[in-house]
Amino acid sequence: MKKIKWLVFLLSITMIFSLVGCKSNESKEVEGDGLFNPGTYAGEGKGIGGTIKLEVTVTEDEITKINVLEHNETPGVSDLAFEQIPAQIIEAQGLGVDAVAGATMSSEGILAAVAQALEKAGADIDALKKVSAKTSTGTGETIEKETDVVVIGGGGAGLAAAVSAHQNGAKVIVLEKMPRVGGNTIISGAAYNAADPKRQEAQGIEDSVDKHFQQTYEGGDKLGKPELIRVLVENAYPTIEWLESMGMKFEDELFTVLGGLWPRAHRPVEPLGTGYINTYMNYIDENSSDMEVLLNTKATELIMEGNKVVGVKAEGPEGELIVKANNGVVIATGVFGNNIEMRDEYNKIWPALTNLKTTNHPGATGDGIAMAKAVGANLVDMEQIQLLPMGDPETGSLSGNIEKSVENRIFVNKDGNRFVDEGARRDVMTKALFEQEDSFMWVILDSKNYPTGEHKNNFNESIDELVAAGRAFKGDTLEELAEEIGVNPENLVAAVNKFNEAVENGGPDEFGRTLFQWKLDTAPFYAGARVPTVHHTMGGIEINEKAEVLDANGNVIPGLYAAGEVTGGIHGANRLGGNALADVNVFGKIAGESAAKNK
Ligand code: ADP
Repeated sequence: MKKIKWLVFLLSITMIFSLVGCKSNESKEVEGDGLFNPGTYAGEGKGIGGTIKLEVTVTEDEITKINVLEHNETPGVSDLAFEQIPAQIIEAQGLGVDAVAGATMSSEGILAAVAQALEKAGADIDALKKVSAKTSTGTGETIEKETDVVVIGGGGAGLAAAVSAHQNGAKVIVLEKMPRVGGNTIISGAAYNAADPKRQEAQGIEDSVDKHFQQTYEGGDKLGKPELIRVLVENAYPTIEWLESMGMKFEDELFTVLGGLWPRAHRPVEPLGTGYINTYMNYIDENSSDMEVLLNTKATELIMEGNKVVGVKAEGPEGELIVKANNGVVIATGVFGNNIEMRDEYNKIWPALTNLKTTNHPGATGDGIAMAKAVGANLVDMEQIQLLPMGDPETGSLSGNIEKSVENRIFVNKDGNRFVDEGARRDVMTKALFEQEDSFMWVILDSKNYPTGEHKNNFNESIDELVAAGRAFKGDTLEELAEEIGVNPENLVAAVNKFNEAVENGGPDEFGRTLFQWKLDTAPFYAGARVPTVHHTMGGIEINEKAEVLDANGNVIPGLYAAGEVTGGIHGANRLGGNALADVNVFGKIAGESAAKNK
């Protein structure tokens, strides 16, 4: 496994160089002909969770050791950056190292910290930035492999399919084009919708599989295929139990996620989407004799024998790779939100999306859609692109979002006025946001959401960290908060007072809002800035209830399966918040089983 190789590499680096002496030096010109003034130097860089502190040891002409001392980056998401970036800098003896996808800010923080340390060692930083790691060790020969099920994409759906295929007797190879598994799943807020007999009853929430069906179908303007939605809602809770059987833990208390319309969202105990990915990867590690995950390996083409899919061509670190699939191929490559050309080609609903940022990871480029289309797969609902009103103004990502639960926050525009039902569908809220000045809003909430400064949002960031980083604002009164964020204090106070009245009456309020839990009345108050961002491309490959891929005539393409965000036809015109993780895991599991049984 790649992960193990990296660990061995890092260990050997540490063992080889741990004898190098440690002393502190100030920045100065290099003495003599070497590249550095030998010694150990401290450096700091800014990551997503605050300052990353490390020290770098150099000899006269070599970077020998990078020791990370302190950081507050998100576990799971940033791990690979800490594993790979220092190792690559040492391997390349340069700073021309690419950020790890999905952990860009952590990677950049590490690179900045190393650069700062090397500057103190007297290095020429500009020159070092031009020195890059050797990426290919290829011999030019095509490598051939054979297995039962090939899964393209190591995000939530792909790993679910891999595990399920193995549980159904198949040997499995997963191809993942990025240097790490996880895709959009690992950076998501991770909310998973399911009507849950156990947890909802304990909380006094009325719900049912039928209600989940109805809200999903109607919430997508009845464009989703009812038979697929049925599969989704009926299997949502059993799939949670399946994940739990493999050790995954969910919190007892359910909540309503943004645009989820009902309190049926399950929150994993591990941060963001790491719980899903770790659960599947633990299973894969335990069954590594039959299962393999190939990182940095991009699938490029499906291999056909007649009308049947029998394998995959890919580009790996060692060159071209052909993997023969005895039973089937599962496409689980996710959305195309990071492919601006595809966004523009298919968008018919929104104003131009070209300049909008996205919540998606860099690998979300729609490769699977292109590969499936090339073998005759039918594509459905491609124009249905979901935007969220919840993007970070700088990056478009969901990180920094201070909301905890739909019931407990309001949105105000730059004047401090509310403008929409904050419990509405995602498309409704985003359309309303586009009508506000600069398409910009503040999320406002009170400290019942954050009883202490250490309390974290849904993205593993504490409110104190966010305030310190200028990504959230705090006021002991609403007037003070209004001052901090530059909105009219009278408007903000009036908006909150009116909202509190509606909480007392139980609503609906002037915007038709019905989801309330408590008043916004407990200081300190917090605000966070948000803008529209591209989130989920809801169209994609057409599948049936067994996750078999269909052609334009509705016929199954033998040997080809698809699952997760790469498929279309489930969410219709608007996906409910919390339904993606259910979709990804439910259909990933089904696709794996179907492929394994296709003998
Ligand atoms: P889902 O939620 O549907 O599982 P994710 O975004 O979580 O979607 O995962 C999709 C994964 O597929 C990502 O890790 C992405 O890097 C990977 N991927 C996308 N295109 C390819 C490709 N051509 N070859 C291999 N992996 C790919």
